[in-house]
Amino acid sequence: MAHTAVSYWEHHTFLSGYDVVIVGAGIVGLTAAIYTRQLRPTARVCVLERDTLPNGASTKNAGFACFGSASELLEQQRRGGAAALQAVVRARWQGLGRLRELLGDEALDYQPVGGFELFRFQDAALAAECYRQLPYLNELLAPIIGRPDIFRDATHRLPGLGLAGVEHMLENTAEGALDTGRLMLALLQRAWAAGVVVLHGMPVTALEPGSGFVRVHTPLGQLEAGQVLLATNAFSRQFFPELDVAPGRGQVLVTEPLPDLHLPGTFHYDRGYTYFRQVGQRLLLGGGRHLDPATEATTEPGLTPVVQHYLEDLLHTVILPGRRPHIDFRWSGVMAFGAELAPIIRPLAPGVFGALRCNGMGVAMGAGTGWQAAQMMSGA
Ligand SMILES: Cc1cc2nc3c(=O)[nH]c(=O)nc-3n(C[C@H](O)[C@H](O)[C@H](O)COP(=O)(O)OP(=O)(O)OC[C@H]3O[C@@H](n4cnc5c(N)ncnc54)[C@H](O)[C@@H]3O)c2cc1C
Repeated sequence: MAHTAVSYWEHHTFLSGYDVVIVGAGIVGLTAAIYTRQLRPTARVCVLERDTLPNGASTKNAGFACFGSASELLEQQRRGGAAALQAVVRARWQGLGRLRELLGDEALDYQPVGGFELFRFQDAALAAECYRQLPYLNELLAPIIGRPDIFRDATHRLPGLGLAGVEHMLENTAEGALDTGRLMLALLQRAWAAGVVVLHGMPVTALEPGSGFVRVHTPLGQLEAGQVLLATNAFSRQFFPELDVAPGRGQVLVTEPLPDLHLPGTFHYDRGYTYFRQVGQRLLLGGGRHLDPATEATTEPGLTPVVQHYLEDLLHTVILPGRRPHIDFRWSGVMAFGAELAPIIRPLAPGVFGALRCNGMGVAMGAGTGWQAAQMMSGA
């Protein structure tokens, strides 16, 4: 590494001598870094993040500690079959367990509130299908989740929630919620405490495999590392255009504080494409990507009238009927999807590995993906 603006101290302390360089400081990149230090305590590990804060999905999500609503799981089974569904639910469930074990429920503000799937009058066919398949889903997933009654009818609880036009409600008794901001803060703190160097504002512009090392190009010059892990999720095709990684943007809004709000749980609608929950006294609502899939298949941040109007309409007519609270926050984040439900965790080039594409479920799968990446790079 040689760059006129870099001091000897900066070069010596922060920008050279790494065994492992991880690109991307989302949940996957940070957990991979922490687990690498656990497996190889003497390895020098650095995480390079292009933005001030991780800028993909990990600080933008809804904080559902979930493994899928009934309709979502049935749709995923239609795509990949029962064995693939079991495998992905196991990865989500074990990933959540790993994350909770690593950081602790207090740091995450993890709440085992239960998840609820709503069916409106126009969703009668979907509701009938889900209710018919409940015994099957419970039996299929009981060995993974460790309880027989994962999904059950909760329609009797609807009157207390103040929702309008909802005919049926299913409960997922094993679902929870966590605080996304606290999760990422705890991961960054844990990474530094484990001896990982995390550098922000460091976009990696190119990777150049050499003999026995990989050259990592950044605006501050080049770093050399024995191994590089791409934890760049939806942005990975910048480096490997052939990867089966399709971006999917998710838009979210959060209302002003609503003193009388009481919506315990996490709520799913329309096969998981739309979701909401209470955060403090505010309502967080997101989704709607399926309304305009072509526009939302982008790595660019942005809000669109189509999705925002849909979310607001749902807010005004179903979730808080007749009310029009002020929207204090609106943002978007970008997920990565592919034909298979499993993430990509494999070598991509000599010395370069990938751990990416959590298919919109990285709160659940991220820590497990990071763990598998650390194991892969340590040769375990
Ligand atoms: C709106 C929304 C809601 C969601 N809700 C949930 C939920 O409730 N539950 C759930 O389980 N999952 C949810 N997800 C999905 C979850 O957030 C992701 O699957 C997870 O965060 C992916 O983590 P990651 O580390 O793989 O990727 P990311 O968090 O996207 O991290 C990739 C990082 O790489 C960085 N990067 C990219 N290119 C470069 C480069 N060239 N150089 C340096 N750095 C680079 C990016 O800035 C980014 O920080 C949601 C996602 C969104 C967008």
